[in-house]
Amino acid sequence: MTDGNIQKVVIVGGGTAGWIAAAAMAQVLGPHISIELVESDAIGTVGVGEATIPPIKILNNILNLDEDDFVAKTNGSFKLGIEFNNWGQVGESYLHGFGRPGIGLNRQPFYQYFLRHLHSGGQSNLWDYSIHHKAAYQHKFGRLNKIGNTNMTGLSYAFHFDAGLYAKLLREHAEGNGVKRTEGLVDAVHLDEQTGFINSIGLKDGSIVEGDFFIDCSGFRALLIGDALGVEYNDWSHWLPVNKAVAVGCERTEPLLPYTKATARSAGWQWRIPLQHRTGNGHVFCDRYMSVDEATSILIDNLDAPMLGEPKVLSFVTGRREKFWHKNCVALGLSGSFMEPLESTSIHMVQSNLNKLFTLFPRQRIVDADVDEYNRQVAYEHEHVRDFLILHYKLTKRDDAPFWRYVRDMDVPKSVTDKIALFQGQGRLFHTDEDLFKQASSLQIMLGQGLIPEDHNVLADDISDEQLKLFLSNVEGVASRAVMPLPSHTSFIEQNCKASR
Ligand SMILES: Cc1cc2nc3c(=O)[nH]c(=O)nc-3n(C[C@H](O)[C@H](O)[C@H](O)COP(=O)(O)OP(=O)(O)OC[C@H]3O[C@@H](n4cnc5c(N)ncnc54)[C@H](O)[C@@H]3O)c2cc1C
Repeated sequence: MTDGNIQKVVIVGGGTAGWIAAAAMAQVLGPHISIELVESDAIGTVGVGEATIPPIKILNNILNLDEDDFVAKTNGSFKLGIEFNNWGQVGESYLHGFGRPGIGLNRQPFYQYFLRHLHSGGQSNLWDYSIHHKAAYQHKFGRLNKIGNTNMTGLSYAFHFDAGLYAKLLREHAEGNGVKRTEGLVDAVHLDEQTGFINSIGLKDGSIVEGDFFIDCSGFRALLIGDALGVEYNDWSHWLPVNKAVAVGCERTEPLLPYTKATARSAGWQWRIPLQHRTGNGHVFCDRYMSVDEATSILIDNLDAPMLGEPKVLSFVTGRREKFWHKNCVALGLSGSFMEPLESTSIHMVQSNLNKLFTLFPRQRIVDADVDEYNRQVAYEHEHVRDFLILHYKLTKRDDAPFWRYVRDMDVPKSVTDKIALFQGQGRLFHTDEDLFKQASSLQIMLGQGLIPEDHNVLADDISDEQLKLFLSNVEGVASRAVMPLPSHTSFIEQNCKASR
């Protein structure tokens, strides 16, 4: 650290988190800082993260990635939301689409008028007014920013991709921007005796990598933040008890769906992620209620095409580090936290934490107030996502298996109870600017799992019954007409971003 300036960043780990950090830091901080990433081919990556949420487009923009090129190079596809099957009750299904159903009126959100309609015996459902739902179930996709001359927002989307190819793309990008990659097994972390800051890491071949600032992307091993710095891990598995996953690919099927599926099983749930060259599948479960063998056979029995390769088992504990930034080390990715992939939030958390780090990045010495603010913001986002995930479980009405009875009856954080109570009364939904999941997301999960508010906001009584009927039918018509001209998801990809392999 010459003249007290932070000049060199060392990233430990080259999984998705490590290469996102390397590529984004080189792009944003590049000219001022040198970056070295250390990874070991002998230790693999988790490499499962295949589904994302819309803010990933912000990262793509920071990296100047051409979207079609990015989709083609990662064998990717487009994602309009997640279909939840068997969550409220076995046999029920709903979509968490990435956009607001309907369109607001008189400064009231659309859903309040929809609730009024429901309370007066209306038969339609919320998703009849969602362009995401219509496009998803017609297997269509297109870039639709706005709906004609209405105020209705267009299609918000994210991507499914091959995590290995994504890491490769980011690595090329990072190395092209001057990031140095060092192959080696980290077997020592050297701390300053007085300050406790990390001075360097030692590799198995005896070499030493020095740095001023360290990013721990070593995955579940948490070599720096956990082993070396001793930052505790807060275990949240009493609220989110799934702790294992078995994952395997299968052949691609037609049509290529523009959404992820999350199908509840008796002790967890199964994901289905459509890619251009295969479908990614996994069964996330709690080993208190199901063995690995049973989970594996449930997964294999429920593949919708011939299996590719061998199933891979992963173990984890949901929770987060007590601090994400400690001394001169920031933990990103699995070394900092684990949230089950139900809402595809982990890759997002890496990018979101990096954005926070950029706004607080130390030029010279590390200031406690910056560290505290970073930890506050990152902790807030984790707790917000945790609560959102808990909602899916707490709102189940399933009584058919011990796992579902446990999550239905468990005590949950007060923030979740309050959210449910506010919605149950008059459909009140609130969010802050810091919240990743806004009103539309909570609305779809709560209504989708059968929580119907007892009443609606009195302000939605400002139009007559006739006007309400006309309004709803207009909105439905606008949504249907907007989706009509879109191409199929398959032909959009064929024409714009077909993978070369
Ligand atoms: C079952 C499952 C499904 C998931 N699905 C999704 C999803 O759909 N969407 C999503 O956003 N996220 C998902 N995630 C999360 C996502 O996979 C991770 O957040 C993401 O891959 C980041 O992982 P990572 O880079 O932190 O860790 P890893 O991928 O484990 O990488 C760790 C790196 O550290 C290196 N390393 C470790 N020890 C050493 C050492 N001693 N010396 C040198 N190098 C070392 C390894 O070589 C590797 O490069 C999922 C996770 C799991 C477990």
